[in-house]
Amino acid sequence: MAKKLWIDEDECIGCESCVEVCPEAFVFDDDAAKAYVKDGATGEEDCAEEAVASCPAECIYLE
Ligand code: SF4
Repeated sequence: MAKKLWIDEDECIGCESCVEVCPEAFVFDDDAAKAYVKDGATGEEDCAEEAVASCPAECIYLE
């Protein structure tokens, strides 16, 4: 079963790191200044773990 990938958006500081590291799974909303998991993206993307590690707010979860 695919791992679930999600962001605690309340904690996101809008640094765009996850989007740079893993554009396959994340998209940035300029208006909200927050990142979101793309529709249908799962933790299966190789870069998902890298994105988790890159998040300074530690608000990306892969479980
Ligand atoms: S890396 Fe973390 S803090 Fe930065 S935009 Fe992505 S979710 Fe937000």
